[in-house]
Amino acid sequence: YPGTGSTGDGYRLLAAVGHTIVPPRPALVPLIAAEPFVARLQGLSLRHVRATLLQNGQALASEFGEMLFTHYGISGPIILSLSKRAAEAAARGRAEISIDLKPALSDEQLDARLRRDFDQFGRRSYHHLLAELLPRLLIPVFVELTGIAPDKPGSQSTADERGRLFRLLRDFRLTIVGSRPIAEAIITAGGVAVNELDPRTMQSRLVRGLYCCGEVIDIDADTGGYNLQAAFSTGYLAGEAAAHALGYGM
Ligand SMILES: Cc1cc2nc3c(=O)[nH]c(=O)nc-3n(C[C@H](O)[C@H](O)[C@H](O)COP(=O)(O)OP(=O)(O)OC[C@H]3O[C@@H](n4cnc5c(N)ncnc54)[C@H](O)[C@@H]3O)c2cc1C
Repeated sequence: YPGTGSTGDGYRLLAAVGHTIVPPRPALVPLIAAEPFVARLQGLSLRHVRATLLQNGQALASEFGEMLFTHYGISGPIILSLSKRAAEAAARGRAEISIDLKPALSDEQLDARLRRDFDQFGRRSYHHLLAELLPRLLIPVFVELTGIAPDKPGSQSTADERGRLFRLLRDFRLTIVGSRPIAEAIITAGGVAVNELDPRTMQSRLVRGLYCCGEVIDIDADTGGYNLQAAFSTGYLAGEAAAHALGYGM
């Protein structure tokens, strides 16, 4: 993490003595989306949504919770959790994040909700009806993507138009083109290969008296304090084993 002074020296020193370095890459990191409209959603936070990572249309992983739009794409807890796999998927080919904005409603419930809104408040404009369903910033984007005139009264909407809205609420899709750099990541994936370290002492299996701990090792975990715990635990083991090897604490 360059912000606290790291420049990659640890990887270079370990490579110089023969260790395998799995290429470092950002993890738990915001994602960049191709759609220009994301810039207009900057600052919008969505709660209780489901984000699904797709590779060539196939679901790879899914998270439920909170996310956030930024001027370049998306961030927030559920996006960070998907980010490593999303960046890898983007490097391989077509990667998308599909957001279900109403995951608590079954298809039948969502359909019934839309029918009720459009019938009951039929004189209201489409724009006005969307205000009952979406945060303010998403309304113009939905108008654009569904292609329904914002001033069209709900009662005049067709089944096809309601179908388009239904599908967009279920599957609001963003094309992922990559992630932000390591400098903006919470952790770094990659590092010294784990099979080259003794897990009981964190001592190098190649160089006697050399110990590794924390981010320099090829381990990365989800959010929730697991990365700090990994740094503390491997640091404790390495320190204790090194002291023991020098004859302290015998
Ligand atoms: C913004 C942010 C938020 C985070 N939030 C969480 C969280 O909520 N929960 C969680 O579990 N994890 C979190 N993490 C991750 C966690 O902080 C790291 O996994 C952890 O700090 C790794 O510890 P480390 O000692 O291995 O590396 P670092 O904490 O990066 O420490 C490495 C130190 O080595 C120094 N250094 C580098 N090169 C040299 C050199 N050549 N000579 C001398 N010194 C050098 C650096 O200056 C730095 O002080 C967060 C990280 C960031 C960036």
